[in-house]
Formats: sequence, structure tokens, C-alpha cells
Amino acid sequence: MAHHKPAILRKTLNGLLAAICLQATGHASPPVESHAAPVVPDVRLYVFDCGTLHIADLGRFHLERKEVSTSDMSVACFLIAHPKGTLIWDTGAVPDAAWKPTGTAVTYHIVLPDSQQRDVSIARSLQEQMAEAGYTASAITHLALSHYHYDHTANANEFAGAIWLVRQAERDAMFAAQPPGVTQPSTYEDLKNSKTLIITDDEYDVFGDGKVVIKAAPGHTPGHQVLFVRLAKTGPVVLSGDLWHYPQERTLDRVPTFEFNAEQTRATRVAIEAFLKKSGAQLWIQHDFTANASLRKSPGFYD
Ligand SMILES: [Zn+2]
Repeated sequence: MAHHKPAILRKTLNGLLAAICLQATGHASPPVESHAAPVVPDVRLYVFDCGTLHIADLGRFHLERKEVSTSDMSVACFLIAHPKGTLIWDTGAVPDAAWKPTGTAVTYHIVLPDSQQRDVSIARSLQEQMAEAGYTASAITHLALSHYHYDHTANANEFAGAIWLVRQAERDAMFAAQPPGVTQPSTYEDLKNSKTLIITDDEYDVFGDGKVVIKAAPGHTPGHQVLFVRLAKTGPVVLSGDLWHYPQERTLDRVPTFEFNAEQTRATRVAIEAFLKKSGAQLWIQHDFTANASLRKSPGFYD
């Protein structure tokens, strides 16, 4: 058919559009050529189980054991499927390549470069859960991390082929000669060469229709961010990143000891609370073990 553009030309045009977009920060990026990702009619939010983090020292959160219902934290990863592309939001605490699923949860002991140690129970790989939903890492068009701590970056390298949506201050810290504490730079080192879109505004509308919006939420780290997702049936949802970890930080007004800037965290919390009120969005605290346990997990999804 003469009026159909040859496939090779379409491919070149897509590449050109992506290249143009990457220079124009603050604007929505066009869809990147996808590798056999399922076509979705509207936005879907998938929740993956990326493990359970066992916290030994609640003092780091200015909390006491009697103030929380459990000291365990959920580690959640999320995939947002949009008709124009796919966004992975946070990538877990243990890289898939570092362990072998056995069918039951195993506890993985993590020693970070700054010599802090953590225990994470993990039952399923991210890759396996994505495959169940019909996705491979190479099919993902966009990657965003709420922030650079190790329990959010574990599988980041798997998404080095996606467009990385990040703020300059965060990226600078990640690749500094002396990386910040509680990071595992080897898990995100490949992002250094990713197509990168530096977010300069408070809000970044990922697909251009207001349904998937990354919002600045600095304080926990310099470029910490949260994600707003507008779902047709579920309604609007905000994924918290680590603006709060335990729900009691919110109800008892506690700020952890290890914030990049605690005053900034307090100001961000006020701003996001106001946004929740105005938008009517539900807040999903990503590390809230009890709330996360009741979320529908992939291959089920929220739409
Ligand atoms: Zn975290």
C-alpha cells in the first residue's frame, strides 16, 4: 500500500521525536517504540511484591515499637500502563540477578557500601511478576524512582533502555564521587548512559494527558518525588515514595533521623497533604505493610 509509511521510516521518525523531546524538558515525551507491550485501553496500575523489609531500629524513624502495629515494611514496585507507554515506579530492594526464587520467601541479607545492613524477605522476582502481567523490562518506555535509596533501585539497571525521568539534584548525588548513604550504586550504574529527561518543574506529566504525573517531594533525598495516577474506576491515587514510611509518621507527626533535609520534608508533607485534599486522591504509603497487604497484586491491576 503506497500510503503506508515503510516500517523503517516510522522507526526513524520515532527516534527523531524522542531525541527532540529529550531536549525540551517540562513537556510530555512521546511514546517510545515498544517491544510487544500489551495494548491497554486506559491507564492501569499494577502492584508488584518486591519483598518485606525487616526494621530492627525504629529509632531511625523517631518511633517506638509500641507505637507501630508492625515494624516490618512492604517493598512495593509499580507498573503504570498507559495507552501511550509504560512507566516503572521503583524497582525493589534485592536485584533479581542476586537470588533464585524457590517458591517460598527467603531472607536476603544486604550489606550496603556504607556498611549498613538490612534483611529483606523476598518470594518472587520482579521479572517473573512483570512477565505474568505480559511485560518484559525491554518493553518499558519510562523509568522513575521515587528516590535513590537501595530499596528502590535494586533492578534499575534492567530498565536502562527506558527514558529515565529524574531531577538534576538527585542524579548528581547518585553519581557523585562519594555517593550518599543507604545507596547501592552498582544497582543503578547503567542509568548513567540512559536517555535521561531531567525534570525541571514541580510536576511532570509523563504521557501528556494529566493521568500520570510525577510531583516534586524533596526532603527525604534532594530530588525525592511522588507519583499521581488518575484511574478511571479507582479514582486518583498518590504513590508516596518515602515521604512517609510508617503510617504513624503521618498520624504522630514524626520525621526520620536520616532525611537529607528534615525541614524540607516537613514542608513537602504539608504541600502533599494539601494536594491530597484538593485532588481527592488516596495516599498509598509504599512501605505501609498493613495497607500494602490488602492491595491487589499483579497480574490483577487497578484501573
Ligand atoms: Zn524506602
